[in-house]
Amino acid sequence: MEHNILVTRSSMPGFEEYCEEIKELWDSHWLTNMGVKHKQLQAELENLLNVPHVTLYTNGHLALENVIAAMNLPQGGEVITTPFTFASTTHAIVRNGLTPVFCDINAEDFTIDTTKIESLITDRTCAIVPVHVYGNVCDVEEIDRIAKKYGLKVVYDAAHAFGVKYKGISTACFGNASMFSFHATKVFNTIEGGAVCFSDDALVQLLNDMKNFGIHGPEEVAFVGGNAKMNEFQAAMGICNLRHLDAAIVKRKAVVERYRSHLDGVEGIQLSPIQADVESNYAYFPVVFDEKKFGASRNEVMDALAENGIGARKYFYPLTNTFAAFHGEFDANKTPVALHISKRVLTLPLYEELALEDVERICKVILNCKK
Ligand SMILES: *Cc1c(COP(=O)(O)O)cnc(C)c1O
Repeated sequence: MEHNILVTRSSMPGFEEYCEEIKELWDSHWLTNMGVKHKQLQAELENLLNVPHVTLYTNGHLALENVIAAMNLPQGGEVITTPFTFASTTHAIVRNGLTPVFCDINAEDFTIDTTKIESLITDRTCAIVPVHVYGNVCDVEEIDRIAKKYGLKVVYDAAHAFGVKYKGISTACFGNASMFSFHATKVFNTIEGGAVCFSDDALVQLLNDMKNFGIHGPEEVAFVGGNAKMNEFQAAMGICNLRHLDAAIVKRKAVVERYRSHLDGVEGIQLSPIQADVESNYAYFPVVFDEKKFGASRNEVMDALAENGIGARKYFYPLTNTFAAFHGEFDANKTPVALHISKRVLTLPLYEELALEDVERICKVILNCKK
């Protein structure tokens, strides 16, 4: 029996490298609350991403929840977003007392369909939360135009897009702010973790207070904040992983190119496009199966892979606007492209250490399903 292949596997530095990085924590006994590792990682990221400010969080979701809160939007305000994403995006809006208004995605790169945004704008619309899904960059120029025209805030869910550049500019730099996730399964991880990137100086203190109970000074608690600070062990993991980020992306690129060499142009298979002017991070490899043309459905392909010890993921299925949590409040038929893609998409195994022979094996199983 051949070895099992999981859909993802976390990038890690060498054991000694990490031990070396955390050694001084045993001298200082300073484990969290914006210690030296936290400050170092923050500075390294500001430098790498070429963005004025980075604030670090214990996870990406709280980063998104906090930055949306920091936009000071009216309670019950409407936020335009997409349902073809991880639960976190929609939940961050709803948990802020805001109403998500779901815009459809485009059928090519699965990001928000900017031609459909303006028809969803009402006098209660206050923000747009687009997602750089799979690391595909949204139409940031058109979103910027619409936001300026209607006076809307823009917060990007850039959880998938760490290391991605558009026209040479990091995805950290668009909109009012961008959120990255550094979860174990992402291209760059701090075990769990996240960041908010932005240029408005006025947000620095607010976000720092917000992730630390609203504590503004030694004897002043200015508002009811939560706790979302990144600890020193997470930051140390980030410092180590950052040293190897470029090499990790090179390996991911080779995996993606091998997948493309077998699957590109196969009838009934749609791959994510190679976007113009975009430097990719090769975060995910989504494949959309058209059962009529391919001869097998997404679920049949997934079952065949499972029988061969290969993991794949229906990412993203179901759409967030169909979650039981929302008790039928939203109608997924209003986002037909997202609905169509979610029923047909499968993301294939993709991680730094995935061997090219394993990619061959995976493609063979998939192509064997073709009728
Ligand atoms: C991973 C992810 C998040 C949040 O991430 P955590 O760091 O796990 O909290 C948010 N949005 C999207 C699209 C994600 O994939």
